[in-house]
Amino acid sequence: MTRRIDHELVTAATRTAQRYCRGDNHSVAAAARTHGGRIVTAVNAYHFTGGPCAELVLIGTAASQGDYDLSTMVAVADQDRGIIPPCGRCRQVLFDYFPALTVIVGPTTAPRAVSIAELLPDTYVWAEHGADADRC
Ligand SMILES: [Zn+2]
Repeated sequence: MTRRIDHELVTAATRTAQRYCRGDNHSVAAAARTHGGRIVTAVNAYHFTGGPCAELVLIGTAASQGDYDLSTMVAVADQDRGIIPPCGRCRQVLFDYFPALTVIVGPTTAPRAVSIAELLPDTYVWAEHGADADRC
């Protein structure tokens, strides 16, 4: 399945990184397209104890605006570092929250749109292995 590149989303993440990333605490921006068509943006909140990546902040930001279902996401690093792929933790969270999510990955000059499942092959599926699954 060919997934289209949402260039408007890449632009939104790039602009958010340029405008709002500051120093070491906020160095990555993410943008997501909701199923309703809106764009939601966020930046990471670094902390040595494991502060959330921009993708995770974005999930909460979208929810706080009433959007619980995201269709496409991209992350862009500050200082013109371009599109970056989600880390392992984010891949798992994104897969569990939005199994049909499209993720735009780099390089910025030739971005690709892939499914979150492609980024996490043979994945652990939370819904299938949770405590509730054993109680059926
Ligand atoms: Zn992450």
